[in-house]
Parts: sequence; structure tokens; C-alpha cells
Amino acid sequence: MILDFIQGAALLLALCWLQTINRRLWTDHCVMAPLLSGLLFGTTCVVGMLTPIVLQQGLIFDARTAVLSMAGLFGGPLVAAVAALMAGGYRFWLGGSGVWVGLANVLMPVLLGLAYRYWHQRGKVQTGPWQLLAFGLLVHVLTVLLLTLLPAAQASLSLRQVAVPMLLVLPLATLILGLLLRDIEYRLHTERALAQSEARMGAITRAIPDLLLVLDEDGRYVDVVAPEPKLLLLPRSQLLGKHLHEVMSQGEAERFYAFIQRTLASDTPQILQYAIHTQVGSTVFEGRAQRLEGLLEGKRAVVMLARDISERESVEMERRIAAIAFESQQGMVITDASSKILRINQAFSAITGYSAADVIGQDTRILSSGRQTPEFYQAMWRSISETSAWEGEIWNRRKNGEIFPEWLSISAVRDGHGRVSNYVASLTDISEHKAAEDQIKHLAFFDALTGLPNRRLLLDRLQQAQAASARKGKFAALMFLDLDNFKNVNDLHGHQTGDQLLCLVAERLSHAIRSCDTVARLGGDEFVVLLEDLEPHSEDAAGQVEAIGQKILQALEAPYLIGELELRSTASIGVLLFNDELSGSHELMKRADLSMYEAKAAGKNALRFFDPAMQESVSARLQLEEDIRRGLAAGEFVMYLQPQMDENYSLIGAEALVRWQHPQRGLLSPAAFVEVAERAGLIELLDLQMLRQACEQLAEWARQPATEELRLAVNLSARLLYQPHFVDQVLELLAATGADPHRLKLELTESLLFDDLAGAVLRMTALKAHGIRFSIDDFGTGYSSMAYLQQLPLDQLKIDQSFVRALPDDPNSLAIIRAICSLANSLNLDVIAEGVETEVQRALVLANGCRHFQGYLFGRPMPLSEFARLHP
Ligand code: C2E
Ligand code: CA
Ligand code: CA
Repeated sequence: MILDFIQGAALLLALCWLQTINRRLWTDHCVMAPLLSGLLFGTTCVVGMLTPIVLQQGLIFDARTAVLSMAGLFGGPLVAAVAALMAGGYRFWLGGSGVWVGLANVLMPVLLGLAYRYWHQRGKVQTGPWQLLAFGLLVHVLTVLLLTLLPAAQASLSLRQVAVPMLLVLPLATLILGLLLRDIEYRLHTERALAQSEARMGAITRAIPDLLLVLDEDGRYVDVVAPEPKLLLLPRSQLLGKHLHEVMSQGEAERFYAFIQRTLASDTPQILQYAIHTQVGSTVFEGRAQRLEGLLEGKRAVVMLARDISERESVEMERRIAAIAFESQQGMVITDASSKILRINQAFSAITGYSAADVIGQDTRILSSGRQTPEFYQAMWRSISETSAWEGEIWNRRKNGEIFPEWLSISAVRDGHGRVSNYVASLTDISEHKAAEDQIKHLAFFDALTGLPNRRLLLDRLQQAQAASARKGKFAALMFLDLDNFKNVNDLHGHQTGDQLLCLVAERLSHAIRSCDTVARLGGDEFVVLLEDLEPHSEDAAGQVEAIGQKILQALEAPYLIGELELRSTASIGVLLFNDELSGSHELMKRADLSMYEAKAAGKNALRFFDPAMQESVSARLQLEEDIRRGLAAGEFVMYLQPQMDENYSLIGAEALVRWQHPQRGLLSPAAFVEVAERAGLIELLDLQMLRQACEQLAEWARQPATEELRLAVNLSARLLYQPHFVDQVLELLAATGADPHRLKLELTESLLFDDLAGAVLRMTALKAHGIRFSIDDFGTGYSSMAYLQQLPLDQLKIDQSFVRALPDDPNSLAIIRAICSLANSLNLDVIAEGVETEVQRALVLANGCRHFQGYLFGRPMPLSEFARLHP
């Protein structure tokens, strides 16, 4: 009987084997797999029933209970149902007395198996060996109990013969079958999970852009997955099985090898950044590697994901470079489109003194020095808008207020639409650079000994002066100056003394000129003075130069103190006037130089003009000055009187006009000498002489009733009016001569009053307090402003003779005369017309409101004796 059961056990093993194949074949088929399983379980039962232990006809025992219970447990309802139908059908077909109990022994294990399965799936019971054994016992105890349902004889026979072997073998068989089936299920389950996991892993590895490398501990490529095969050193097939050192340089391979060892030694992922030359060129990778658990082909291994970070790296590199560049020596400013400062660097703070907190959010105007013109900024912004850039030198202001030069470059940053989004400016402080430049310039353009401009700078300024004088229509002059006996100083006292003398000369020259002029040293004892902005007429200009030249000669004449020595030195000056650009600067210098030699030839300590005509006129003037001086001393200047009349042809007074009774040239009128006297500073003396003669005349008139009412008008030059002691001098004269101040009238011209209106008002008021009267000469040719007329203590307006002369033909002049008369009327002033030559003129002037006259119609300026005849 034991043998029979073993036979049954063999059958069960066959069942398991077939079941394994079946499950493999129909893994995922949800109908075919259970159907076939059911068939297998059913067939096994049927085969078991074909070779049963037959106790008597119709009373058979086999292992169907074990098979069916396991079909329920591991197969599920469908498998169990198919198996149960087959087993039950066959048992029913066999028939016999045990048929019903036999059928019950089909149903019971199936139901128990399903129940077990149900509880197992809910986690209430396990399928461990002990549980399976207990289950087998339960099934077969119930099977034994079912035997009791057989007719009594058969029941006792069965219990006696079968119960013990059955309880000994079948629970064990159930256990073994269960274990085998469980193992099949378990293995299938694992295989499926593995397949799924592999599929998932495959999908993941294909989805990530990184290279996946599996390297063993010897640095051998075990596996390579490359979504972008070009990122590999070599095609995958060539790479597999190779060692690192076979595909990369020695150094790189060693680095990788060390990395693998490090990864193997660590539990956490390791990171390595490396650059290699792949099939697409130099590529930077970031590798993350993790140790693989277990061995791969007997070796430890690592899995590495390598990511191409070339782009990120280059962006990062650029950012780093930009950051370094931004923090460079140059000051940097980034602004928005409206010039609001967004960012600055440290160099900016160092240069300007402004911290980020000071300037961020501010307009860049905060730096502006005010030195640049609006046109400068306009040109700058024009360049930026046209070319997106500007570069140049600019003066800005530091936080401490200091103004400094900087080299500024501005670039406009535009967005995708071409609109300016930002401006980036870099600035370099060039004050030091500028200072150095200035020093170089100084050395190049200035004389080392005296610090004066040298020949180069002079030529430069000369060219500018030529252009400027041509433009302005004004004269300029070049003065060549040479010390007369400098060689002697050097020879007698040594070069050091000579040098000191030159420095002193340079100093005196610099003081003697105006700020717009230039003194240069050409070398040795040669100096050049460049005079600019002179008068537009050559004679006037020559006069100015003459005056400056004389001043210079005087300044240089004074003794020089050098140590213990007292030296004297004079100079000779050659002058060249110019007012155009026609001659080259060198040519001008040559001519000025020539005239200097002429000056020397003329006897040193002299000034000579290059132009002979000019020289002549200057010489003539110098002579005239000398002559005037002599004439003043000799009392050659005499007073002539020109009568002044009222509307009734009655004599009311006279104007004193100077005449020069020249011993050789005869009687000279003011035109021949007044201007020269003014320029030579002799006019004051002359005017005072006239004033004295006038006062004497007044005093004389006062003695006779016929003339005591006459007034005498005296012309005064501006220079006299503004002299500090003028008021006193006039009062002294009046006192000395005994003249009545009320009879004295002083004629002033409008223009001279403007020089110092307040001073003029002060003096005039002081004199007016003594009864002296004032008349404005040549009225109508100047400003004639109401404002100043009101301020001045005036008595009379004297209509200029040009308006009278134009009568009767010129209606304009008449209108002016009329206006002057009404102005005088409104200011309560007298009016007198001068230059009245005809009756028509007199009548016209009179008809327009002027009742006093002076002119040839009534008498020319005449000597006193002649004037005396005018009145009885
Ligand atoms: P003025 O003060 O405007 O003097 C009037 C000038 O007109 C005088 O010339 C006179 O001779 C001239 N004159 C007078 N009536 C007539 C006329 O009907 N027809 C023409 N054609 N001329 C007439 P004069 O004497 O040659 O003086 C010229 C200028 O010299 C004066 O102009 C005055 O500015 C200045 N002057 C004369 N004497 C002195 C003086 O003692 N001191 C100063 N500082 N300047 C004086
Ligand atoms: Ca006059
Ligand atoms: Ca006049």
C-alpha cells in the first residue's frame, strides 16, 4: 500500500512539472492558463483514480484530496472548478458504493483549498510548511470522517485499512505538493517582477539623456547605454569589454580608475567632472557613480550616469568671466534704459567714492561735473543711439566734489526687438595719466629754465592767434625781445648769474603783459611776446603795442639784484603786427626777428616795427608826444573861444576850444594832437591848462557889466574827470582865479560817463553843489538813455553838429533834434545846437524848440582878442 502512495507521489511530481511548463507558457493569459491548470489538476486526479487502492469493488482510495485542495489553494476558483468537474465526473462514472462519499471527497478539499486561498489572500494565514501540513491533516481528517458515512461494513473496513496510511501519507503529500506549487508560483511571481523591473529600468535608462556606464573594479566597460551614441568615446560595440586605459589617455584613465575605487568604497553616489574628446568634440561631463550590490561576472562594479554639461559649463564659465571682468580695474556701471543705475562694481566705488547704496536707483547725472556743454552730451547720445556705443574723455565729479577726468565707454544693450534695455559703461580714472601727460606736455612745450612757453608752444599759439585775429578782424603782434648786453653778463659773472638774470627777466616780462598775451623764451637771451586782441585799426594797434613795449622796456631797465650783484640790462624789441593767416608762422617770426635787429641798430633799449610805414607813424607819434610835452611846458596851448547865441542873436557865452600855437607848425587845431595827448596821458594836463585859462577869462568877464553874464563852456576828457583829486583841483582853480563857479560849464561826452557812472555822478554832484553847470556834448550820438540822464546832475544837452549839418535836407535828423528838445524839456534841461552854419538851420532848429546856438553862422573859434570885439 505504501508503494501505491509513493506511486501517487510520483504522479504529483509529474503534475508539478507540467504545471510549471503550463504557467510558463501561458503566463499572462487569464483564461487559458487557469483552464489548462484545471485540466492538469483534473487529469492528475483522474490518473490517480485509474490506479487507485481498491479495497473492494467501488471503494477506491487515491490522492485526489491532496491534489484538489492544492488546486483550490494555488489555482483559484476556475482551476479548482475544472479539476473538480473532471475528478467528480470520473468518480461518478466509476460508480460503486463509495460514489457519494467519493464525490464528497472531491468537493470538500476544493472548498477547503478555496477557503484557505481566501484567507491567505487577505493575509490571515500563511502558506508556510507547518501551515500546509496542518491544512493537509485537516483535509484528510475530514476525509477520514467522511468515510464514516459509508455503509457500516465498508466504513469499518476503510477506517481499519486506509485511515492510518492515509493520515500518514496524504497530509505529507499535500505539504510537498503545496510547497512545490508555492515555489512555482513564487518563482513565476519573481520572474514577472524581474521582467517588469527590467522593462522599467530599460525605459528609464532610455529616457534619461545621460550616458549609462557599468564599469567593473578593473575599469572594464561591462555595459554601456547611450541615448546619444556620439557622446561615447567609441561606438558601443568597440567599447564593451575594453579597459579604461585602452580608450583614454593614461592620466584620464588613472583618474577614472581612482574614481571607481572611491565609489566602490563608498555607500553614497560619487561625483566626478571630466572633459574628454568624444565623437562630437571636446565635451564636459558630470559623472555620478554608485556601487553595484553583488558581483558582476565575479567582479565588483559601479554604475555611472554621465551627463553632458558642456553648455552649462560654458555658460557658467562665461558668467564667471563676466563677473571677474565686472570686478576689474575699470569702474563699471549698468543702468536701465532711462540711465538709472542698477549695478556698479568695486572699482567704480574706488574711483568715484560712491558706494552701491549711494548710487543704485540714481540717475547717472549724479556724476556730472558740469564741465561738459549740453552739446557735448547731445553728440554723445547721438553716437549711442546711432552706433550703440560711445567712447571718450569726460570730466565727472567724485562724491567728495572733486572733478576728475575719466575715459568712458558706453555701450547700449538691446533686447530681441532692438529696444535699448540697458547701458553698460566702463570708466577709467585718467587723472594720474593726465597729470603725467601734463608733465610731458610741460617738458615738451615749456622752457626748463624759466618755465615760459618754448618755441614749439609759441608757434602753436601763434597759429591760433593768426586764425583768431583773422576771424575777429583784430590785430595781433609778435614782439622779438633780446637783452642788449647779456653776453657781457655771462662773460663777467658766469652762466649761473646769467641764468638767474634770465629768470628775473622772464618774471618781469610776465608781469608786464596782459593775461591774454604770451611770453615765450626761444633760448639764450631771446624772448618773444605774443600780443593778441589788439585794436582793429593798424595805427591804433600799433599804439597799443607801442605802449606795452614801452612798459616792457621800462620794466626791464630797472636794476636786477642777484646775490650781492646789482646788474642793469636793457632790451631791444622788434615788433610785427598781423591780422591775417596769409603768412606762415615761421615767416612772421623771421620778420619780427629782423625788426629786433633794426631796433638794436637804432641804438638798443628801443622798439622797432617791422613795417616801415608803421614804424614811421609810430615814430611820428612819439615825436609828437615829445612835442606836446614840450609845448605844455612852454605854454603853447591857448584858448580860443566860439560864441554861443540865444534866439535873439544875443551873445550868451562861449565854448573854450584849445589851439596849439606851435613854434614851427603854426596854429594847430585839436584834431592834430588831442588823440595823441590822450594816449600819452597828457590830456589831463592840457585840460587843466584850458580850465585855468577859462577861469581866468571868467574872472575877467566878471569885472565888466557887459560880460559878467557870459558863461564859458570847457571840454573835459574822461581821464581828468575820473582823477582822484579832480574836484579839489577845479575848486582850487576857481578859488585861485576868483571865477564864479555859476558861470562855468563843463562839457562831457556821453560815452565817458558810462565808464563809472556812480563815480561820475559823485564828482558832478560835488561840483554842482558849488554852482558849476554840466552839459552833455555831442548828444544824440551815444546811448541817450533816459535812465542815466535822470541820475546825472545835468543842465544842458548839446545837440551834435552832425544832425544840424544834415539840415534842412534830412528829415531824420530833424526828427532826432525834435526828440532831443522834447526830452530836454521833460527833464527840465537847456538845449544848445552846435555847428549851425546857415540861417535855415538856425530857423529849423529854433522852430523845433532849441533856442541856443553855436556855429560858424555866429562865429568861428577865435582868439580872446577877437572875441572881445564881439561885445562892446
Ligand atoms: P567839440 O567839443 O564838439 O567842439 C566843437 C567843434 O566843432 C570844434 O572843433 C569847432 O571848431 C567845431 N565847430 C563849431 N561850429 C562849427 C560849424 O558851424 N561848422 C563846423 N564844421 N565845425 C564847427 P575844434 O575846435 O577843432 O575841436 C574839435 C574837438 O576837440 C572838440 O569837439 C573837442 O572834442 C576837442 N577839444 C577842443 N578843445 C578841447 C579842450 O580844451 N579839451 C579837450 N579835452 N578837448 C578839446
Ligand atoms: Ca565841446
Ligand atoms: Ca561837440
